[in-house]
Amino acid sequence: MKTIVDYRLSGKRVIIRSDLNVPIENGEITDDTRIRESVETIKLAVNASSKVIILSHLGRVKTEEDKQTNSLRPVAVRLSELLGEPVKFIPYTKGDEVENAVAAMENYDVIMLENTRFEDLEGNRESGNDPELGRYWASLGDIFINDAFGTLHRAHASNVGISKHLPSGIGLLVKKELDVLQEALEKPRRPFIVILGGAKVADKLGVVENLAKVADKIFIGGGMCFTFLKALGYNVGASIVDESKIELCKKIYEEHKDKIILPNDIMVGSSLTPMASIRVASISDIRPNDIGADIGVRTIDNLRNVLTGAGTILWNGPIGVFELENFNTGTRRLLDYLSASNGRVILGGGDTAAAAARFGYKDKFYHISTGGGATLELLEGKELPGLAALSK
Ligand code: AMP
Repeated sequence: MKTIVDYRLSGKRVIIRSDLNVPIENGEITDDTRIRESVETIKLAVNASSKVIILSHLGRVKTEEDKQTNSLRPVAVRLSELLGEPVKFIPYTKGDEVENAVAAMENYDVIMLENTRFEDLEGNRESGNDPELGRYWASLGDIFINDAFGTLHRAHASNVGISKHLPSGIGLLVKKELDVLQEALEKPRRPFIVILGGAKVADKLGVVENLAKVADKIFIGGGMCFTFLKALGYNVGASIVDESKIELCKKIYEEHKDKIILPNDIMVGSSLTPMASIRVASISDIRPNDIGADIGVRTIDNLRNVLTGAGTILWNGPIGVFELENFNTGTRRLLDYLSASNGRVILGGGDTAAAAARFGYKDKFYHISTGGGATLELLEGKELPGLAALSK
């Protein structure tokens, strides 16, 4: 698969599909991480005296009103600041304005088109990978670079669609993400310890199964541990459980019980609110009204022992309801411990990254993945359509 450095870019119109899907509240960007992470590739293309055309999606666009809150205009402003170059924003996704702007470009120019998902209003053309739309966008450029790691697991017109028609490759961000995650999957420094949490157990069972082939230990915490605990016969009270996955959790546990580690105590609450009454319960002492919301102190100590001397640590999903102060201890302690680890610590998934940022550990790790679903699918061993299209 080619990367941006394999192409001669000078004088060429280079379409870069970035993932600039940042949170915006009242027109203000509240976290610009994804823009920052995208700058390196864009800068490389500008410095190579090309004409850079940037495409990205932002949020979901299902109604005309969604257009008001999902314009990329503030993103173009922020990108321009970070890049130190003007970024001309074209408030359209196609048509004369777009074509004229592209035709008028000179070397070193950067333009950004409006949110690709504005095209979803007309028959889901972007998200449904409408062939005409992909062909149209491709007609604007000479080379296509996919640097949107977060959407590699989707076959959309702005990634798969365009790459069918142009010489294509990946950008520096996608390269970095793939290198780090593939190294962990293929030749991790050992011991290789995986930590999984979050609420949706169904999303992560494929990850458990795939990582069990390579990891030395897999700790399962967060909301997802309760389906496993219930599968093993424990009472989990009112904790979150996916009843449809109990049998599968039982099977996975039986197959990999030498590797899977579950909590032995849990911080339970009377509700998932700041006012909840809380206590630490052994997993054999969870009462009917208890909601498991964080791991307990013994489990934290146990996890620390497991992590001592680890070569690679891959963590996806918060191990408690970190958004609430009364249930964030496990996630905070783990972040603190890992920030001092000599191992390669890789954080994946939007909520894990958000937890690291919230508690001040954003720059303390070997790698924080910008992908959510894409990271999980990669870890599951699935083929990512956005990548598969490039290698063809
Ligand atoms: P996911 O998208 O599956 O990674 O889930 C992330 C969410 O899991 C976060 O918002 C956490 O608050 C939530 N979470 C973590 N631990 C628990 C728990 N014990 N019960 C319910 N939700 C949890």
